[in-house]
Amino acid sequence: MNHFQYKQGQLWAENVPLVEIAQSVGTPVYVYSAATFTRHFNAFTNASAGMDHLIAYSVKANSNLAILTLLAKLGAGADVVSGGELERALRAGIAPDKIVFSGVGKSKDEMRAALACNQGGGIYQFNVESVSELIALSEVATDMGTTAPVALRINPDVNAGGHEKISTGNAENKFGIDITLARAAYAKIRELPSLKVTGVDMHIGSQINTLAPFEKAMDKILDLVKVLRTDGHTVKNYDVGGGLGICYDEDTDKPPLPADYGDMVKRKTKGHDLKIIFEPGRAIAGNAGILLSKVRYIKSGGARNFLILDAAMNDLIRPALYGANHVIEPVRKKSETSEIIAYDVVGPVCETGDTFTKMREMPKMQEGDLVAIRSAGAYGAVQSSEYNTRPQVPEVLVSGDQYAVIRKRPSIQDILDREDVPNWI
Ligand SMILES: *Cc1c(COP(=O)(O)O)cnc(C)c1O
Repeated sequence: MNHFQYKQGQLWAENVPLVEIAQSVGTPVYVYSAATFTRHFNAFTNASAGMDHLIAYSVKANSNLAILTLLAKLGAGADVVSGGELERALRAGIAPDKIVFSGVGKSKDEMRAALACNQGGGIYQFNVESVSELIALSEVATDMGTTAPVALRINPDVNAGGHEKISTGNAENKFGIDITLARAAYAKIRELPSLKVTGVDMHIGSQINTLAPFEKAMDKILDLVKVLRTDGHTVKNYDVGGGLGICYDEDTDKPPLPADYGDMVKRKTKGHDLKIIFEPGRAIAGNAGILLSKVRYIKSGGARNFLILDAAMNDLIRPALYGANHVIEPVRKKSETSEIIAYDVVGPVCETGDTFTKMREMPKMQEGDLVAIRSAGAYGAVQSSEYNTRPQVPEVLVSGDQYAVIRKRPSIQDILDREDVPNWI
């Protein structure tokens, strides 16, 4: 069930009318549903039943401490890609032995922090992406007198479809170690001090709407696991990454359910004696949030009808960055007989790219109307900026009939206080 529903002619988040949040917190504002986060996380838990597994939520999709705390209580681990995200996961109470560290450019300081947490027990696994990174990690671990658990992220060279800016498993992407070089890289681990092999890792892209690319990649990696084991490596974990798509638009997106995806992984890995690590991000957070905004002005009469919102590309950059399509709906339901108008929905930022959608047919809108930009829970608030000195968009979490601001909107003063004018100007 979707927890952003129309009731009594208005859109609600669980049992709170969105209009109430707009009045008390102001717009634009991200609104999340705790029940939806819970349902999505539990869908992955159920999908992995019967498998030795870890669900390491991809923190970068939505890294608010309240969201991480909610997921931690449901048993989530974390996939982090920076020292900052590591700190967030630890603060939210995610056990270090459920944390994996991904990313192509970890610094030595970040490695040190990940090895030092857990009273020196460190995190569960480093997903390492190059031989140079292996050497750096070996140096840090040796220096600290500890051993770093390592999986190599393998680039299986499959095309995951979807947008080129979120495809990661092709040989021409910067991610992972080319599968043809994997054996030599694992041999290197054995040569280097203070490292131990724990597994293999992949992450082939995001918003993947069919199982085929995952299956193709898994076949390649499972073949590699056999070879690595013959070479004498202990491959215990298979981190299958994230990437499962979500429905942004019912007319175009028909992604597999977590249950279908889980069944496929179970079938593929059966009998391989592997612990499976899942790193879902979007599939958990995407449809658990909306961006609530107000129509400031309507400009008609020229070539287009512009709906000018108070939200902009600095608050939600996905349309500008990836050409992403988000459903936009009026919060107060319009009558069935409303005139239908094709709008270009835009923000106030001084960029032509500040366009949420073009020629979108919607019931005739009025200035002051609230709109919900759907499916904005993942890669929304986390990618927001203060471009045009627009204060960073706040976040609200709803649970049942209660809600709370989980990230405040800074004042202009807060923004300016971070800057300094040297006295030699
Ligand atoms: C971004 C990312 C994920 C999450 O991807 P989704 O498409 O949001 O599920 C998982 N693992 C790694 C390494 C990532 O970079």
